[in-house]
Amino acid sequence: MRAEQFKGAKKLLVPELLMLPGGPKRGQAVLVDGRKFRAVGPAKELMAAHPGLRPVRLDGHLLMPGFVDAHHHLTQSFGKAQSFGQPSEIFKTIWEPLEHALDKDSAYVSAKLAALEALRGGFTTVADAGTRAPVDVAAIARATEEAGIRCVLSKVVSDGKGGPEHLDRWDAHPLVHPSLAIPVPEDATAEVIKRTADLCREADAVFQIHVNEHLASVERSLKSVGRRPVEYLRHIGALGPQTLGSHATLLTPGEMRMLADSGAAISYNPVASAWKGNAVAHATMLAAMDVRFGTGTDGTRGDGFRLVDAAETAQRLAYGIASGDSSCGAGRMWLEHATSLSADALGLSAVTGEIAAGKAADFLVVDLDVPELTPSYDLEWELVRLAGRDQITAVVVDGKLRLWEGWPPDWDGRALVARAAKMGPEVVRRANLQRVEPR
Ligand SMILES: [Zn+2]
Repeated sequence: MRAEQFKGAKKLLVPELLMLPGGPKRGQAVLVDGRKFRAVGPAKELMAAHPGLRPVRLDGHLLMPGFVDAHHHLTQSFGKAQSFGQPSEIFKTIWEPLEHALDKDSAYVSAKLAALEALRGGFTTVADAGTRAPVDVAAIARATEEAGIRCVLSKVVSDGKGGPEHLDRWDAHPLVHPSLAIPVPEDATAEVIKRTADLCREADAVFQIHVNEHLASVERSLKSVGRRPVEYLRHIGALGPQTLGSHATLLTPGEMRMLADSGAAISYNPVASAWKGNAVAHATMLAAMDVRFGTGTDGTRGDGFRLVDAAETAQRLAYGIASGDSSCGAGRMWLEHATSLSADALGLSAVTGEIAAGKAADFLVVDLDVPELTPSYDLEWELVRLAGRDQITAVVVDGKLRLWEGWPPDWDGRALVARAAKMGPEVVRRANLQRVEPR
């Protein structure tokens, strides 16, 4: 297998196993034509139908959908380890000062570094939840587009300005999908929150807002508006299918019901809970109640396999052990929520998240001939518990090869890393972060 085999607009790929919506299947092939999967079906039939195309055999490999990160902060990548060991609500002490210290150039480098890390971890889509950096978000769009990752790009509109222009600006862009954000409900008036949610609904865009993440914010909401954050969003008419609430770790049963009834989605961010949270979202309960949810990194680490592992493990430790639930959704649930259902939470279910004709060719080629997956009995669960990003041979987004064995084939990824290694600490110094020193 060589990188060159992934070049060209039309490719007939014949993997050992193909991850379809119903599970992994042998003897299948995909026809990639330009940016999309044109056909998916039995390899023999596809080869017979396209005799002029030389099939690319991916023996010993799985072709699977790329991971979709439903919650990221691309301009926080210079401060990843700065958040370790900090008390909750680090957005006030770390992220806001860090993002405020960025300029156009450093925001671009930070976002491109995050995009490269995400691609290396098998993500083909990332949703940026809205930067507070004082720059035009075009810097982020340029970074993700150059890296070659699909991006749901938010603009923060807490002041009620610029929403329609942002939604128009990126409309019909192949890799950038516009979205509006209000970081937390207390950042904007009820009228602005409602209007932003309405704008997103009309534009088929996603409205991103952090909800019920920390005890302090839930209690501030109760004291200021007499309602918990999710209750408040419903009360002001801002909870609907276009709403993507991030974290939602502290939900009452009543709020879970409101999410289910409104069709709103959440992003379940298990690594964020482990590193800085007050609780773990009860994702298995949300699934049972038909609440839509995807999985997100929250900018913690851009590793899709470690994310699905954390998603399962967090459920098991926080809820499964106590109730004797020894499977906690098994492997299938976490792969689905990290791919097709994350795409659904981002309003992109018609675009990406699964291997199907008409969807964007956003996929991974994963090496299965490794000791960790040998012998294999339940590939989906094995991918969740045993697989690692070193097995990702190729990452393809929008039909184009973006990474080969962990690095971009057509731009200098190592030069970007070197630039970020120099620039990141300078930004952190300028930000003058007020950290609690961990022991
Ligand atoms: Zn966040």
